[in-house]
Amino acid sequence: MSKILIFGHKNPDTDSIMSALLMEKFDKNLGFDVEAVRLGSINKETKYVLNYLGIKEPRLIEKVEDGAEVCLVDHNEFAQSVENIENAKITAVVDHHRICGFKTSEPLYYRAEPLGCTATIMYKKFIEEDMEIDKTTAIMMLSAIISDTLLFKSPTCTEEDKKIAKKLEEIAGINVSEYGLEMLKAGTDLSDLTAEELIKLDAKEIMLNDVKSQIAQVNTASISVMMERKDELEKAMKNTIDERELDVFVLLITDIIESNSQVIVLGKKSDIVEKAYGVILQDNTAFLPGIVSRKKQVVPILTQNA
Ligand code: MG
Ligand code: MG
Ligand code: MG
Repeated sequence: MSKILIFGHKNPDTDSIMSALLMEKFDKNLGFDVEAVRLGSINKETKYVLNYLGIKEPRLIEKVEDGAEVCLVDHNEFAQSVENIENAKITAVVDHHRICGFKTSEPLYYRAEPLGCTATIMYKKFIEEDMEIDKTTAIMMLSAIISDTLLFKSPTCTEEDKKIAKKLEEIAGINVSEYGLEMLKAGTDLSDLTAEELIKLDAKEIMLNDVKSQIAQVNTASISVMMERKDELEKAMKNTIDERELDVFVLLITDIIESNSQVIVLGKKSDIVEKAYGVILQDNTAFLPGIVSRKKQVVPILTQNA
């Protein structure tokens, strides 16, 4: 039997990479033959973490064979998963997202908790199995939590995430605020990326009822600097709309210091954003104060208005 492949979503973020590696560690401790892999290039924030810990990046895969055994972390929607996922055998899912269109033909392990981060669930799994959490493991978990909760400021962050982060901080022996800010800042160094790369960095294809959408997010320390590239970003967004036959493309440019977003919206269903937030798009854009979470403050609200 071949190895079980473990991976997070396409356009992987720090949680998708770390949780895959954590799940690999967890399963290996239990004697399973597994390998953490990734479905896209590693962003700079995640690179910062891997370099900090001296960990090698997981191997890139493009698709899986029919019948391949796989474990999904940090996602469950097939549109965000590997090519040919429909024909794979999903043995396990560990996730903290809505469950949408998920179907298997065989029983599986499925763990979903409405926490701020998949790595928080991984922490609980380690504790439940009495597995040691060493310094490196603690920093891996902590990094994913910091990333997904924007240093505990996102509305997705729960008391449990904060409590567990405190425990991890003790094991890690680092100052979380300092480390976290450095890590998040590393992810906002985007000047060398093309507009196409920028809109793909953290993009998810999501069905909002019948509306086929792509919702991408870019973290920045300055919305205005990012908005200087609005024309080329829109061009890249338009190309994606044509290629993927999208009804709407929403790009969130999120100020991680001030916790606000500027949104650029294109496509024939752009009006759902106007309805959802009571704003008028001017030149395809609007400012959304306090909006930082795609999962909690964008997807559900847009779905209600789609
Ligand atoms: Mg993720
Ligand atoms: Mg996550
Ligand atoms: Mg995210």
